[in-house]
This record gives sequence, structure tokens and C-alpha cells, in this order.
Amino acid sequence: VTGSGLSAPGVELVTIGEELLSGETVDGNAAWLGRELRAAGVRVLRRTTVGDDAAAIRSVVAECLRRVDVVICTGGLGPTRDDITLDAVAGLTGRPLAEDADVLRNLEERFARLGREMPAINRRQARVPDGADVFPNPLGTAPGMAVPAPGDHAVILLPGVPAEMRAITAGSVLPWLAQRWPAARGPGIRLIRTTGIAESAAAERVDDLVAAAAPVEVAFLPGTDGVDLRLTSWGAADLASLHAALAARLDRWVYAVSETTLEAVVAGEMIESGLRLAVAESCTGGLVAKRLTDLPGSSGFFLGSWVAYADSFKRHELGVSPELLAAHGAVSRETALALAAGARRSSGADAALAVTGIAGPAGGSPDKPVGTVWLAVETAAGAESRALRLPGDRGEVRERAAQAALHLLLLHLRRRGGHRGRQD
Ligand code: ATP
Ligand code: MG
Repeated sequence: VTGSGLSAPGVELVTIGEELLSGETVDGNAAWLGRELRAAGVRVLRRTTVGDDAAAIRSVVAECLRRVDVVICTGGLGPTRDDITLDAVAGLTGRPLAEDADVLRNLEERFARLGREMPAINRRQARVPDGADVFPNPLGTAPGMAVPAPGDHAVILLPGVPAEMRAITAGSVLPWLAQRWPAARGPGIRLIRTTGIAESAAAERVDDLVAAAAPVEVAFLPGTDGVDLRLTSWGAADLASLHAALAARLDRWVYAVSETTLEAVVAGEMIESGLRLAVAESCTGGLVAKRLTDLPGSSGFFLGSWVAYADSFKRHELGVSPELLAAHGAVSRETALALAAGARRSSGADAALAVTGIAGPAGGSPDKPVGTVWLAVETAAGAESRALRLPGDRGEVRERAAQAALHLLLLHLRRRGGHRGRQD
């Protein structure tokens, strides 16, 4: 089952609800359970979604029970007529339902605490299949449970409401699984976060390392902000040396070797070196400033920014000369450098970052198509600029431009600090 040869216990998930099939609700429960179970060393081998239909629930759970020992279901545990999961699973496993005095008392107490009379239909939720373990629900009425099935198998039932499902999983299901599979342990996971390099180029650079990585799995995860490499090992394989080798090979495109963001890494470098930053943004409209100020403690280095959109604003606020704008245009190396210089001068910051570009959909020309972006950074150590030709729609161009701007700043800071050996 696992690339490492060491097998991890596996379960199947069944998520239940018409709204999941119709797409009105995105199946966040399955995604969340997949992550949490994996971290706990339990693999989700398959997942299935069915509507609120007793026959469908019975047949899919029966099928799952032929393949795995434990099936986890979410949804359809409410008090209404369309909530039929409990009856379907009790029927399938041959476990008659009976009212459970403890569950009933909990239900009544819950309503009493809220100062409300318990509706008669909620009494249905006090029914428990014979021999089931009950998992208390700290946030709602329907408890979770583990219903025994023939052959020492079990069907775990959880409510569909995400917060309730999560609370019961954390509080009861994971401990229950840990008791069943005491040796289960989450995989070792390492991350490498890159930006500014395409997935195929990154893959080519590290191809020999990845080919020889087994039993460690190396996944390439491309996104708008760059490509992440995730290393996973279910066994005792040495992740550290492969992690280091991959990061070294990917060189300056690596901005983090753990689960953190580019803005957090930039902030760390700024604070460590005691520098203060100002930003001038055109096409990104404040995205760079937004990302930096999302971080608590950003006032420790971030002075402020200009969203310098119109040429007149670039002139008046940041002193970009009309002659320069006329000669080179607003999207040019010269304007990017002038914006950075102006921002640094006007703010008194140690470092200034500037972004100017054409996000589209209009405004492109043959020599400056949509996606053309110029970046510049200036510190006492000097100034540098970079041109980009970014793919995507307006939103993607803006996001990618902000990411590239932060990356340029990071590279400049690292080179200035002369550490980590990542030279441009
Ligand atoms: P209730 O007591 O509220 O009826 P329930 O166990 O019957 O709980 P459902 O009726 O299936 O759960 O769903 C309750 C809510 O949770 C709905 O708003 C539904 O959209 C949401 N929900 C159900 N299943 C999922 C899922 N797999 N992922 C995300 N949301 C879900
Ligand atoms: Mg319901």
C-alpha cells in the first residue's frame, strides 16, 4: 500500500448528502479527514459520496467493508426524515437501535442549557446501535459513534456539520483509531517552497535525485505562487539529506524549507537585519503591502506603501520625472527604478520595492503585452531591477507580480547579507 514497504492502516470515507453531489456544498469534510487521518498515520484509500438514500448508503458501506476494516461516514445524522445514515448502517450491520439513556440525558441537558424545550424529533438522535461506542458531540446534538460490523470491522458515523465532525474526530475518533492501531504513526513530511521557476524546469534540475528518492515520495505541487516540493516518508528513511540536496539544487528559487510564506521569510530577514521597508505598487494595487501587513509584527519593519497608479501620482508623490515617463513608459525598467528610488527617498526607508506592470485584460501592446511587469529594489547596497512576462488573467498576473516582487526583495537582502550562498 505504501511506497516504503511499511504498511499504514487504511480506511475508506463515505460522505453523505445530496448537497455534496449537486455541488452546492464542497466536500470539505473528506479533505479535512484525509489530512488529519494521514497525519495520524491512517491512510484514506478511497472515498465515495452518496446522496441521502438508504439503499445507496447501505450498498456503498457494505462494499467498503469488504475492502477495509474501518469505514468513516459523515452526514445524515440529524433529527429529520432525510437523516437516514444511522438507520441504514444499523440495518446493514445487524445492530438493532435502542434509545441510550446517557445520550438522551446529554441531549436533554443540552437543550436545557440553551433554555429550550427539546423537540420530540430530536429523541431520534438518542438511538444507538447495539454495542456501538458513542463519541460525544461538544458542539451539537448528534453524537458520533463506532458501530461494530462482522469480522471485527467498524463503521464510524459522524455528523455532517463540519465543526461538529472536526470536534468529534479530534476528541474521540483519533484516540479510538490510535487504540485500534497503536503502531500507526504519521509520515515524515518535509517541504521545499520555490518561486520563479516553472514546474518542469524544477523537475528537470532535480530529476536524478527524485529518481533515486524511493522510498521517499517527492510530489511537485505547482500553484500561482510557485512550486512546492513535498517529501513524504512512511518508514524510517532519511528525509534530511534528500531534503538538503533538493534545496541546494533548487538554489535561489527556494524561499523556504518549511511550511511558511514568502512574506514571513522576507519579514524575518528585514527584522533580523534591522531594515525598514517602503513599497511603491502600480499593477498590484497594494497586494504586496497587504501580504506584508497580514503578518502580526509587521510594524517592526514595514513603513508603508504607495499605490501609485496614475502617471500624475507617480510624478507628484514619488518624483518620477515626466521626461522619464514619456521616454520609457510607466511599465519600464527606468520607471520601476525611479519608483523605488522615490519611495526610499520620500519615506526614509532603508529598502524600497517597486512594481509596475500590465495586468490586463486591456493595456497591452506588441512590445509590452499583458503580463509585462518590471520590478525594482533599492537599498544602500544599490539598486536592481527585473523584467517579467507573466501568464494568467488579471488576478493571476497581480498575484504572481506580488510574489515575484517579494522574491526579488528577498534575493537582494540575502545577497546583501552575503549568506546562504544563494546568489543571482
Ligand atoms: P444535522 O444535525 O445538522 O442535520 P447531519 O449530520 O444530518 O447534521 P447534514 O444534514 O448531512 O449533517 O449536513 C449538515 C450541514 O453540514 C449542511 O450544511 C451540509 O452542507 C454540511 N455538510 C455536510 N456534509 C459535508 C461535507 N462532507 N463537507 C462539508 N460540509 C458538509
Ligand atoms: Mg441533516
